[in-house]
Amino acid sequence: MCGIVGYVGPRSSMDVLVAGLARLEYRGYDSAGVAVVSENDGLVSQKRAGKLAVLRDDVDAHPLASGGTGIAHTRWATHGAPTDANAHPHLADGGKLALIHNGIIENFHELREELIASGEQFLSETDSEVAAILLAHAFRETGDLTTAMQQVVKRLEGAFTLLVVHADKPGVVVGARRNSPLVIGVGEGENFLGSDVAAFVAFTHKALSLGQDQIVTLTESAIDVITFDGEEVHPPEFTVDWDASAADKGGWSSFMAKEISEEPEAVANTIRGRLSSEGQVVIPELEALDVGRIDRVIFIACGTAAYAAMLGAYAMEKWSGIPVTVELSHEFRYREPVVGPGTLVVSVSQSGETMDTLMAVRFANDAGAQTLAICNTQGATIPRESTATVYTHAGPEVAVASTKAFLSQAVAVYLLGLYLGQHRKVVSAEVAASIAKDLHALPEQIQEMVETGPRIKELAGWMADTRSVLYLGRHVGYPVALEGALKLKELAYIHAEGFAAGELKHGPIALIEPGQIVFVIVPSPRDPSSLHSKVVSNIQEIRARGARVIAIAEKGDAAVLPYADEVITIPPASPFMEPLLAVVPLHIFGMELAGAKGLDIDQPRNLAKSVTVE
Ligand code: GLU
Repeated sequence: MCGIVGYVGPRSSMDVLVAGLARLEYRGYDSAGVAVVSENDGLVSQKRAGKLAVLRDDVDAHPLASGGTGIAHTRWATHGAPTDANAHPHLADGGKLALIHNGIIENFHELREELIASGEQFLSETDSEVAAILLAHAFRETGDLTTAMQQVVKRLEGAFTLLVVHADKPGVVVGARRNSPLVIGVGEGENFLGSDVAAFVAFTHKALSLGQDQIVTLTESAIDVITFDGEEVHPPEFTVDWDASAADKGGWSSFMAKEISEEPEAVANTIRGRLSSEGQVVIPELEALDVGRIDRVIFIACGTAAYAAMLGAYAMEKWSGIPVTVELSHEFRYREPVVGPGTLVVSVSQSGETMDTLMAVRFANDAGAQTLAICNTQGATIPRESTATVYTHAGPEVAVASTKAFLSQAVAVYLLGLYLGQHRKVVSAEVAASIAKDLHALPEQIQEMVETGPRIKELAGWMADTRSVLYLGRHVGYPVALEGALKLKELAYIHAEGFAAGELKHGPIALIEPGQIVFVIVPSPRDPSSLHSKVVSNIQEIRARGARVIAIAEKGDAAVLPYADEVITIPPASPFMEPLLAVVPLHIFGMELAGAKGLDIDQPRNLAKSVTVE
């Protein structure tokens, strides 16, 4: 999920690799490592938890033998805490082979068991190390790194970019990719590999992109590409038109722009390997819970995470038949709630360090509840102190205001809801299969919403002077309204409020005056409840009082068109999936309005990414 660099050429590969990793720092990571093949000293490597500077200081103080072939990695832990031992490269074949991996090997557990049974020993908790050991076996049999890679990738499921070097093959780096990026930088008498062009743009602007399920064999004078099945491929060449400084954020104008573009992938990664097409949820981490005892679920979270929990809670209660409530972590603890062994307290925190939530988890543990963490960061404190953890695998989120993590948290709650429903046998096979179909379709539909970007930017452009924006939604549209309003406050410092549309007549409608901008999240007209017509009536009520209505509605919803000033359409989806689509333009809107006002999108004033104080 993070950064990969490879090099073969006449330069000292260490310099190229460390410069490349520095350019990839924008991707976020928790540890870093390098391996160099030196003509005289064989394979040498170093890896350290923490920032790249820790590794750099280490190799400055204790220089490794130099060589022109090398690979380097920044890790964002998914399997095992961010420690030195879990950092990449992983060595095998008596320290002669080094492997780096970005992504998740879904079937690593079976492979690991198999290798342990055959007498292998593992030095890390990662999923990646299985690939190193398998490659060592295959290399011993074939004597060729490319053939070895071809054999090994056939055994791996999931998402991976792999690079491997071997002491017996100086001058060669072999890479492979599936569902995870790898690009090739073409130099003169030297060649490069990188997770993206930022890794090598300081050295060359000529590049080739490696396709899905392809393997590249890189030497200083040749780039040979084949498919996993061994067919030769000639990837098209392109020219990188950034200068090196634009590469710091991978060419995006802000981390947030990059993270919004990653929303489809974040959701795909949350689901990956956990949901069969028949709707069976497989999350081994949940086996630590005593599901039979659960008679109540309480979510605890703050800010965006609380809205993700709220959204997911609608689905969870419906699918599991268990009463579910959502509370702000800082309120939960101080009201001294009644919780006990039948209560599952689920915390939601991107960083896993949110102090308010951590204190609430401790309270729940002390009160004898079972605790489950939904978290994006391996090795964080909240997962360590919880009975069980489901990692969202959304990838690092650098911008302070959360976007892709929101979507992956909500989807993780959906999976949990379905899991509980299956354990309690309240979800039929048919319903589970249809939920699975909807969830698997989500990443592509979210991508469609990401592509509304230019249109939303235009909308934001003429609203830069706006002083107040309201958001209305109902049922699952309500947390979306709250999330839309929060993004606008955080990013554009504009007064914004989200309301449950049904509440309008109980007070908030007094705020409506001519020109007031109101976003309305409209449920599908196909929704069997009568919510669609109720929300359309709300639109008419506010429109009659001069509001400027921006509706987010299903494509082809003819009832909305006559009453809205603007309509942003979402593709047809089931009621629980709609909010995950509707929220995307609201994320974009917050970002673009901040941009139109010339504000710092990634680091809004007064805010911190990880709120580690109460
Ligand atoms: N799944 C691997 C690990 O946890 C690689 C993570 C990454 O993409 O950096 O070590």
